[in-house]
Amino acid sequence: MLLSQPLLEQPEVEFHWLRLGRCNQLEALSRKGGPWKNIEFPSLAAAIKHPTEGWVMFDTGYSQHFFDATARMPERLYRTLLPVHLDTSIAAELGRIGAEPEEVRRVVVSHFHGDHVAGLRDLPNARISAGRAGLEQVTSLRGISAVRHGLLPAMLPEDVKSRFDAVEERTAVSVDGLTGWDLVGDRSLVAVDLPGHMPGHIGLLLTVADGPHGGGQVLLAGDAAWSSRAIRDLQPPARPVAAMFDDPGAARSTLSSLHRLDADHADLTILPAHCVEAFREWNAGA
Ligand SMILES: [Zn+2]
Repeated sequence: MLLSQPLLEQPEVEFHWLRLGRCNQLEALSRKGGPWKNIEFPSLAAAIKHPTEGWVMFDTGYSQHFFDATARMPERLYRTLLPVHLDTSIAAELGRIGAEPEEVRRVVVSHFHGDHVAGLRDLPNARISAGRAGLEQVTSLRGISAVRHGLLPAMLPEDVKSRFDAVEERTAVSVDGLTGWDLVGDRSLVAVDLPGHMPGHIGLLLTVADGPHGGGQVLLAGDAAWSSRAIRDLQPPARPVAAMFDDPGAARSTLSSLHRLDADHADLTILPAHCVEAFREWNAGA
């Protein structure tokens, strides 16, 4: 059933979707049944301007800190397996929209994989909101046991724990059957529990003032899905890749939830963190 009412009534915020680096991957691995060809896997992050909270980001994409943290073994394995290209910086991307890294007051982190948090050190004044289990994992592992999970703890700011706000401590709100947490108290930024990919994995629900279709509700989905097509066609990643997820069963049911939300809510746009198609479409119309 197609519903025209929003998932949740929210005040509008200003929204910019940014591309901060990319790697390449075989499509056959990222989407079950996909062709064996190399596809671009951009790292997408968001900058959001809230009327009273100021600048907030969702994820950070890659940054120079990724290259510093992977200069030596065993961390070098990460960039050997997934070669990364970076042709911009957080400062340059924020500059284009009239913001500076020092002005970012909060970063909502979908999960702690290197391609989502490499820029945290570039945002010295930001509180860090994420799922508690994610921070616990990334701060308890070192060396090869961290790299095995795609984590690079050396890339995190030294004071990450004192700047951390667990999303689970915020007021819970229901988002059409999913658990959400109201991050700033006015429901404009609602973290959404999207479990499976990594411990504490979350998305962010917001309502944007303008976009390709004149604004509307957006769910930033992090790595709960790698493409709009995977959500539309309910296609999980290939089995060997999905088996590496923290909780493959939960990841499958999260993808089903996204498929259902996408089908049921005409005004909702779901934006996965690595989808070329969604990024082009959003920025062509915005
Ligand atoms: Zn990712």
